[in-house]
Amino acid sequence: MGDNIAMLGLGTMGSGMAANLLKAGFSVTVYNRTAAKAQPLIDAGARFASTPAEAAKGASVIISMLADDTASREVWLGKYGALNSSKNGAILIESSTVSPAWVAELAALAEQHGTDLLDAPVTGSRTHAEAGQLSFLIGGKDTAVTAATPVLKAMSKEIAHLGPVGSGAKMKLINNFLCGVQVASLAEGIAWIERSGLDRDKALSILKGGAPGSPLLAAISARMATQTYTVNFLLKLMTKDLLYAQNEAAQCNVDLKTAQVARNLFETAMEQGLGDKDMASVIEPIRNK
Ligand code: NAP
Repeated sequence: MGDNIAMLGLGTMGSGMAANLLKAGFSVTVYNRTAAKAQPLIDAGARFASTPAEAAKGASVIISMLADDTASREVWLGKYGALNSSKNGAILIESSTVSPAWVAELAALAEQHGTDLLDAPVTGSRTHAEAGQLSFLIGGKDTAVTAATPVLKAMSKEIAHLGPVGSGAKMKLINNFLCGVQVASLAEGIAWIERSGLDRDKALSILKGGAPGSPLLAAISARMATQTYTVNFLLKLMTKDLLYAQNEAAQCNVDLKTAQVARNLFETAMEQGLGDKDMASVIEPIRNK
């Protein structure tokens, strides 16, 4: 596999991922809709492309890390989209959390173009992206996974190949469905603790060490308690993930009622202007009611 990599999308996650590709010695071209976000990576040795098409030209591996289906469609298929300028035999890696339906559509177009698509969403957040400690959940052909492995390794601690194209996207939505519901219930639990007369720190310590304890509960309860909403995971992105999860589960005749209730809480927070804050801020409308 050649070593020219294109990274499309330099948000919270894409920036850390691109930085680790540079550290691993790959030649990296970056694109971001808001060009200013590319500056730290340009300073670290990346080339800047002003369109996705320009970034993709000549790259062996093209990775996208974008907000949602709409952003992904725009960057791959828009007027200056990456797909048409990707070279024959290139591997396209869609790492955004997107819907399996969109992955299937993009994979078919990629194949017609003589390229292979891997859906490779990630678990882990901003700090894991910065530390090259993400976990990839992958769908796609064995040959493409093998060819892309050195590139994926530079950004991750774990690469799980789950099956054909679409498998990674499905697994990611199941993962984030459970995370979203837990964050929403934690918000209600902490608001309740705060009004109950219990000592909050003692109560959280019992929850963390007990059956409900999880890495997510530990991280998010600290942010909710201290009202620290510096972005690790945007609240609006969790709202999107719960919607995609509901749509996908419905394809299997499963009605995600708990996702609906959690999504209502996230949407209330968005209506109160918290969409661009960390998802932990979902507690604020509950706390302030
Ligand atoms: P982010 O900080 O909001 O970055 C989103 C990226 O998408 C930015 O590069 C943004 O460009 C671009 N974008 C949005 N709309 C666009 C459009 N219409 N056309 C072109 N570009 C567009 O999000 P993130 O936290 O890096 O997350 C990226 C993906 O990974 C999401 O699917 C998210 O659900 C998933 N994810 C996030 C985390 C996390 O902890 N943050 C963890 C796992 C997975 P601009 O800079 O111009 O806005």
